[in-house]
Amino acid sequence: MIIAVDGPAGAGKSTISKLVAKKLGIQYLDTGAMYRAVTLYFLENNVDFSNIDEVEKNLDKIHIDFLNNIPFLNNIDVSKQIREKNVNDNVSAVSALAIVREKMVDLQRKMSNNKSVILDGRDIGTVVFPNANYKFFLVASVDLRAQRRYKEELEKGNKSANIDDIKKSIENRDYIDSTRTVTPLKKADDAIQIDTSYMNIEEVVESIISYIK
Ligand code: C5P
Repeated sequence: MIIAVDGPAGAGKSTISKLVAKKLGIQYLDTGAMYRAVTLYFLENNVDFSNIDEVEKNLDKIHIDFLNNIPFLNNIDVSKQIREKNVNDNVSAVSALAIVREKMVDLQRKMSNNKSVILDGRDIGTVVFPNANYKFFLVASVDLRAQRRYKEELEKGNKSANIDDIKKSIENRDYIDSTRTVTPLKKADDAIQIDTSYMNIEEVVESIISYIK
């Protein structure tokens, strides 16, 4: 069984998908973490993303894996680094590259082969698994999405978090993700849209589970 969960940044996709995976006893795959890991590698190795030959050569040096939902880049746990500002600021530009998407989509299909998996991302229901058993598209207002991310930052102890900067970063990623020429963020025609703005996490989880037979 494949469950696709797409939507813009901060709509609650990863928190909710992890909980649904746990309740249903299936695997969770965070596809955003994969694009973030590629971005981290490019930044750490000064790869010029505007040079396709350089991107292609370096993509071959990247190995991404998950162990208990922890992302590993070339066997190193990168769960913290991939959430940092330099990655946030560059991930949408890296994700807009066709060659990067091709490699990630291929890997996501392989990782999910013959398994029951819930995947969250931007193109799961439209491109990665157009025949997914269930498709959901989570949305929420940009102000509420920024507030959620701000709260998460405070909980992580980030005292310098600024809600206006977070809102700008979300708006910028939404803009690039939904206007890129290669497989932009888009609701699949057959996806169930859930507006999470005024729902708590449990309510969204229950709503998704209520559709699964
Ligand atoms: O889900 P998350 O916000 O961590 O994703 C980070 C970025 O990765 C997104 O803003 C988007 O640019 C890219 N992404 C994507 N396709 C996916 C998942 C993430 O382009 N399936």
